[in-house]
Amino acid sequence: MANTKPSGQTGYVDIYLGLQWGDEGKGKIVDYFAKDYDIVARFQGGPNAGHTLWYKQQKLILHNLPSGILHDRVKNFIGPGCVVNPVTLLAEIRTAAELLGVFAYEMQFRIFISHNTFIIHPLHQFLDKAIECSKGNNSVGTTGKGIGPAYADIKDRIAFRFGDFELTKDFFSSPAYVAFVESVTKELEFYADEYGYSVPEITNINQVELEFKNAIRELLKCTTFVDTFWLEAKLRDGQNVLAEGAQGTMLDNNFGCYPMVTSSNTVAGTAPVGLGVPMKYFRKTVGIAKWYTTKVGSGEFPSEIKDEEIQALLQEAGQEVGATTGRKRRCGWFDIPQIRYALQINGVDELIITKVDINPLQEVEIVNMYKVNGEGIKTFPFSIDQIEAVSSFGLNMKWSLEEGVPLLETDLRLYLGYINDQVKNLGVTISHISYGPNRDDVIEVNF
Ligand code: GDP
Repeated sequence: MANTKPSGQTGYVDIYLGLQWGDEGKGKIVDYFAKDYDIVARFQGGPNAGHTLWYKQQKLILHNLPSGILHDRVKNFIGPGCVVNPVTLLAEIRTAAELLGVFAYEMQFRIFISHNTFIIHPLHQFLDKAIECSKGNNSVGTTGKGIGPAYADIKDRIAFRFGDFELTKDFFSSPAYVAFVESVTKELEFYADEYGYSVPEITNINQVELEFKNAIRELLKCTTFVDTFWLEAKLRDGQNVLAEGAQGTMLDNNFGCYPMVTSSNTVAGTAPVGLGVPMKYFRKTVGIAKWYTTKVGSGEFPSEIKDEEIQALLQEAGQEVGATTGRKRRCGWFDIPQIRYALQINGVDELIITKVDINPLQEVEIVNMYKVNGEGIKTFPFSIDQIEAVSSFGLNMKWSLEEGVPLLETDLRLYLGYINDQVKNLGVTISHISYGPNRDDVIEVNF
């Protein structure tokens, strides 16, 4: 969408987010659409995200940075709904600067962090691992990056924000910081005593903390810390914002498959709070889904493909390995009840289907209902531990880029047409498909 407002009009925010269990290709899609916006903004999550971009044949995996970072004209904002690890963010900025051929300090003109954005402390990472260890077989399978404990400390009102470091003189000696370190250290001691979790690095806490403090000082040079109304002021000035979601709808802390969820809200309703922007600026929501489904880690996954051979074929062809964790992703069929749930909870207007170039299979299926105690249902239920997924569409369909036929002249058109029919009474239509990992491998479609 071109930036063609008459002058004097305020800008708008469009939200782009994942509809499945993450890894839908959000980074690539945001990188493609970023050219139509002035600012790309992250509103939730931390470096548990892993958004993959390709730039001049090189791969860049972003964790905390928004996916507009490779566009010269675009500003990137890390909003108050995010949690940020200063050490890994600094490393990310240096990698991106190198790829772009600029000095790290020049990134201050592209990267803006809200004073209200919360910080992940090195102790949070130890705590994350300690808590997972204490859960034994019931562990969630977190990325171990300290995200959960950082969000928990926000609710406990002991966390700290970038503004604290910039605006409080000698923050590291302040009572708030000292009390935080004491409190988390005690918690770690509890996990060590109760569950035998040992944190070898804790013996070297001074070194870890030094690295943390240095990273914050460096971030002050290669990013710009901004006040609460920075983004709102840009919108009032007529600039347009792409709000980039992380993780995926089924990992939302409230509306995902609880408790196998992430520690932040991922749905569209999170964006106004996570950016500090009033709702009046929000224009539309775009949902992103793969033509099949994947999930990293344990937990119920209704449309999971039972056939090991098909599972392995899709995993290999789609290179389904987690960008942050390196873990193999479980593969499943496209799941209509699940997608309709995600479209509804997010209020999606447009649907983008990714990875349509990947199809090593001779036959595909689409799950379009579930069975609970032998009874068919078409909605996504509150609890999914007793359901059986049923496919009744798509058998015998196949398509492949290799055949040299334009993708939309293959069975893919029928396949997508079926999905479009199943979502249109929610006011949603498939607007684009993505057929490769590179920025421009996107086509606008019409059903
Ligand atoms: P994200 O976290 O939603 O951004 O997704 P990830 O980066 O974790 O995983 C998506 C993977 O699919 C990355 O390796 C992308 O480069 C790749 N990808 C994205 N869109 C497409 C596509 O349309 N086709 C192919 N073949 N790969 C894609």
